[in-house]
Amino acid sequence: MTPIVTPARVIVGLLTIVTFSDVWPQASPLAGGLLALVAGGYVLGCAAFPYRKCRACRGMGRHTSGVFGGIRLCKRCDGNGLQLRAGRHVWNAINRHRSRRSR
Ligand SMILES: [Zn+2]
Repeated sequence: MTPIVTPARVIVGLLTIVTFSDVWPQASPLAGGLLALVAGGYVLGCAAFPYRKCRACRGMGRHTSGVFGGIRLCKRCDGNGLQLRAGRHVWNAINRHRSRRSR
């Protein structure tokens, strides 16, 4: 499992606080620019790499039992070891909505 607190999340959290609060007004525009850069990078990442490793099985697609060595397929990813990124999930939902509207 990926830990909840990662260095990248701490940095993005600090940038968000500096951008949208008055704790450090001089650095607010710079932090906002960095935040926009990070967000743009994430959008590009979601376009280039729509899938990430499944967190439940760490990309293996199966679970093994410790004592008897039994193997079962991962329920979360249906055994393929991949999961759609959250950003790509949103992207697909927006596109579905758009294509329904244009009909
Ligand atoms: Zn899985």
